[in-house]
Amino acid sequence: MDKKLFTPGPLTTSLPVKQAMLRDVGSRDKEFMETVRFIRRKLVDIADPGQSGKFTSIILPGSGTYAIESVFANVIGNAKCKALILSNGAYGDRMAAICKQANYSYDHLKFPENDYLPLDKIKVHLQTHGQSYSLVSFVHSETSSGVINPLEELSSLIKQYTGAYLFIDAMSSFGAVPINMSTTNIDFLVSSANKCLEGVPGFSYIICQIEALQACKGRCLSLSFDLNEQWHGLEVNGQFRFTPPTHALLAFKRALIEYDEEGGLEGRKSRYMNNCDIIKSGMKQFGFQQFLDEKTHHGYIITSFNYPNDSNFEFNKFYALLSDRGHVLYPGKVLSANCFRIGNVGRLYADDCQNMLKDVEKVLVEMGVTMERRQDG
Ligand SMILES: *Cc1c(COP(=O)(O)O)cnc(C)c1O
Repeated sequence: MDKKLFTPGPLTTSLPVKQAMLRDVGSRDKEFMETVRFIRRKLVDIADPGQSGKFTSIILPGSGTYAIESVFANVIGNAKCKALILSNGAYGDRMAAICKQANYSYDHLKFPENDYLPLDKIKVHLQTHGQSYSLVSFVHSETSSGVINPLEELSSLIKQYTGAYLFIDAMSSFGAVPINMSTTNIDFLVSSANKCLEGVPGFSYIICQIEALQACKGRCLSLSFDLNEQWHGLEVNGQFRFTPPTHALLAFKRALIEYDEEGGLEGRKSRYMNNCDIIKSGMKQFGFQQFLDEKTHHGYIITSFNYPNDSNFEFNKFYALLSDRGHVLYPGKVLSANCFRIGNVGRLYADDCQNMLKDVEKVLVEMGVTMERRQDG
C-alpha cells in the first residue's frame, strides 16, 4: 500500500481515479473531447454557482505555477501596465518572482506570514495608488502557512479603489472553500488538478471572465502560455493546441464524478474540516503549538505546527520515522519560524488522520521528545 500523503499536493487519490488512467485515448477521439468538455463545464459550474454565464475555463498542461505565470503573461505581457501583488507567504512571493523574472512592472506588498492580509493597510495603499494598477493578485489559501485570506473583503476593497482585473491563486482552496467568482468580481482564478479536486498532477486550469480574457488578446509574448489561443482551440474544435495530458484528464474526470458523489463543495468541505479538527486537537494533546493563532484562524486545508522546544526533536528524523510508518508529512515553508506542516486534503478520512496521530505519538516516544501534554483540546 502506498503511504498516505498529508501534504499540500500531490495528494493521495482514490483507486478509481488511478485506474481511470489505465487507458490510451487519442487526443482527437470523440470520447476524449467529451471528457475535456465535461471537465471545462464542471470547473465553471464550481466557480460560478449562480451560473452567470460570464466565465470560461482553460486547461493548461503543467503544474499550478504554469497557470499563475500564464495569467501574468496574458494580462501584463507586452502591455505597458502594472500589477500589484499582495503577499503573506511563499506562494504570494512566487507571484512576485514570476513578474521579476519576466521583467513585468509590479509592486509587491509583503505582509506578515502569520496573519491575514491586512485590510486596513491595503486600503491605505489603494487609496493613493489604486488607479495605477491593471491587475491585483493575491493567494486565497496560503498553503505555506494555512492562512485563508478574506476573499470577499479583499475583492470589494480592490474593486472599490482600482479599475484593475482581480486575479486569485485559489490553488489549495478551489473546490473545498466556497468561492463565487461572480459575486466577488474575480476576473482570473487558477488552480490545478492535484489539489482539492483530488486528481493527479499534470495540468492546471484558469477560470476567467470571457470579456477580460478577450480584452487581453495580443499581449502575451509566449506561444505556450497564450490563453486566448489555448481557449480558441478548446472552444472551436475541442482540441488542445499541443499534446494534452490525456491520462491526467481521464483521472480528473473520474475525480470530478467522485466530487459530486461526495456532495460537491459542501461534502468535501465537511470531510476536510473534520480531518483538520482531528489533526489539530490530536497534535494539541501531544503538546504541539500551531504557528497561527488558533483563536482567529480556522483554515482547514493544511496546518503549520511549531517545532517543539525539545532538543531531542529533529524534524528530519521525525519525518523519516513517520514516513517509515506510512504517513508523509511536509516541511515548513514559512521563513519566520521553524515549522512543519500537516495537510488534510486528498483521499484522507478520519481513520487515516487518527492512524497518523497514533504513529506521531509512538515516534515522539521513540525520539525521546517530551512535551507538556494538554488535555484541554
Ligand atoms: C500548490 C500551490 C501552487 C502551485 O504549485 P506547483 O508546485 O506549481 O503545483 C501555487 N500556489 C499555491 C497556494 C499552492 O498551494
